[in-house]
Amino acid sequence: MSKTPVEHVHARLDHDEDLSLLNEVSMKTAGVSRLEMCIQCGSCGGSCPSEMDMDHTPRTLFAMLRAGMREEALLSNTPWICVSCYHCVVRCPQNVHITDVMYTLKGMAIREKKYRDSTAPDFSETFVDMVEKYGRSYEFGLATRHYLKHSPLRMIRTAAMGLDMLKKGRLSMKPTTIEGMDQLTAILNKAKEMELAHE
Ligand code: SF4
Ligand code: SF4
Repeated sequence: MSKTPVEHVHARLDHDEDLSLLNEVSMKTAGVSRLEMCIQCGSCGGSCPSEMDMDHTPRTLFAMLRAGMREEALLSNTPWICVSCYHCVVRCPQNVHITDVMYTLKGMAIREKKYRDSTAPDFSETFVDMVEKYGRSYEFGLATRHYLKHSPLRMIRTAAMGLDMLKKGRLSMKPTTIEGMDQLTAILNKAKEMELAHE
């Protein structure tokens, strides 16, 4: 019988543990990652709203890091599918900073050009631009900017749904900036400084 992805990774771990990749990812993560504390309990995947769309659950991805599976880990769509909801972080019994590790893996994948969906890094960059500008996501701008650039035909197909959401007030035409934007900018600048220090 063929092995499931998690069995495959664990079989490799049994013979071939190589902590160099895990340590590298941990070092590159701003603050403390606690990646080495992962006990493979699976609570993260169990609480993740995006798990169904991920190539690997966070648990499997972290086992891959422990097994030194660089290529597979950086090509995984998991960090790109992560919506930064922090559910997993709240439930992790080991206080692993899972969401921060996802950001680190995205950064590494971009630098090493290891991603399957060529529009994913651009989408991520657009999202970050909006958060830096307004302090929150601005869905209408995000969708229009992304689709116009990468898939204008898809934009036409989804326009009706967008208009419906606008009519129902579930989408805003104009971005609004959060209160305390100065403080958020200071936090983001500090985070960038810390990230540079880890490179
Ligand atoms: S919840 Fe925490 S300890 Fe459990 S598998 Fe996920 S990262 Fe590891
Ligand atoms: S932060 Fe990411 S990995 Fe964690 S539960 Fe949310 S979507 Fe899943």
